[in-house]
Amino acid sequence: MTIGLLGGMSWESTVPYYQVINRTVAARLGGLHSARLVLYSVDFQPVETMQAASDWERAGEWLGDAGRCLRNAGADFLVLCTNTMHRVAPAVEAAAGIPLLHIADATAAAVRHDGLGRVGLLGTRFTMEQDFYRGRLEARHGLEILVPEAPDRRELHRVIYEELCRGRVEAGSRERLRRVISRLADRGAEGIILGCTEIGLLITPAESDLPLFDTTRIHAEAAALRALGQPGRADHDG
Ligand code: GLU
Repeated sequence: MTIGLLGGMSWESTVPYYQVINRTVAARLGGLHSARLVLYSVDFQPVETMQAASDWERAGEWLGDAGRCLRNAGADFLVLCTNTMHRVAPAVEAAAGIPLLHIADATAAAVRHDGLGRVGLLGTRFTMEQDFYRGRLEARHGLEILVPEAPDRRELHRVIYEELCRGRVEAGSRERLRRVISRLADRGAEGIILGCTEIGLLITPAESDLPLFDTTRIHAEAAALRALGQPGRADHDG
């Protein structure tokens, strides 16, 4: 199957998607095998403007058009390379007319596979505060989700848009993030979902006291396995 990557949100995190997908296919098939995929990389500025204005309807139409282009270019299923824009995943999937591999489903399957039930969720304020993401993790997958307190949510949101989406990786932000993770651990979190596709650029599992679930890697691996017709964790779950 051909993967349709809807990326550019931000492009900094679309790069690891491309690497992980190709490395997963190469590891499974060997030789010079690589992934069959098409990429539609959007200009992120208008997307961010629509987010800030809560113009989700227009954002859904806009990404839906991109999804249709991917289908017309031969994609069999869609991979929306951002957690936040899963806010409009149903609209994008309907407009494109091909299935969408939901990032929260792939992530929940990985958390469940590791036997965890109560996890912290880090991401943009949209992802941490609105129901489209944490609600899905809770209602569909039975996970208990903890989010940071309001000042930590605001700071993380700022770091994502002002630093990580612009390719800036700052040691001070990493330290603050580690403190946010320890506060979540004190509240009972058993692991942490990096629910923003750029956060894995800032912190690695070795730098965290808790197991990390990096949505970029998990989503990209699930996409590669689906394209190969090999069952991934998400195919066994819910
Ligand atoms: N890539 C980020 C995410 O996974 C944030 C950028 C965006 O708003 O799409 O949520």
